Amino acid sequence: MIRLLGLDGDDTLWHSESHFAVTEESLAELLSPYADPDDLRRRMLETERRNLALFGYGVKGFTLSMIETAIEVSGGRVSVAEIQRIIDHGKGLLTHPVELLEGVSEVVDALDGRVRLVIVTKGDLFHQESKVAASGLAERVEGIEIVAEKDEATYQRVLGRYGVDAEEFLMVGNSVRSDVAPVLAIGGWAAHVPYHVTWELEVAEPDVDHDRFTALDSLRDVPALLDRLAAH
Ligand SMILES: [Mg+2]
Repeated sequence: MIRLLGLDGDDTLWHSESHFAVTEESLAELLSPYADPDDLRRRMLETERRNLALFGYGVKGFTLSMIETAIEVSGGRVSVAEIQRIIDHGKGLLTHPVELLEGVSEVVDALDGRVRLVIVTKGDLFHQESKVAASGLAERVEGIEIVAEKDEATYQRVLGRYGVDAEEFLMVGNSVRSDVAPVLAIGGWAAHVPYHVTWELEVAEPDVDHDRFTALDSLRDVPALLDRLAAH
């Protein structure tokens, strides 16, 4: 019996990665005098990977990585005006309106009263708090957990806080690496709902044969999944 349902934020409840992808296109265009777009994307990913342990997830670290990549690919020739454009792109991501994915509001309504709901999201604390507030979902869930990393220890902490066992917890999200694998590893249930863009550092293959894993096409399928798990 599932008592607590965890919902991922970025690209599960609201659009996120698609905005990053648009910004990366703009970066590639801005820096086209210094690097061809494919090379730029590869260098940007290398910078992000290198900086992750220092900056963590989110727009602010992404913006610093864009600036660092610009300095590198231009051999230090990038102009102050170009750096300013990059900073503006970063601010654009931070101030972008929150757009819920299709069906989110109806699904949250349908789950209300059936199961305790918690949003488990990672990234910049301040930006995630702003997004949760703007989403209109904060009052409709029991809790909001903004975490630095979604690993086994993080999920154990969340379960402890809500007083549920792993086998009573279902996590739903778009990232196999963050929303599925660590939850299965601690004995919980996980459902993967893919988003049309996945950040390369989140890409992973799900263990489709796992007893407690379900692949869903849409968040709209979650209430029916709860029915199936209740009959389990
Ligand atoms: Mg996500």
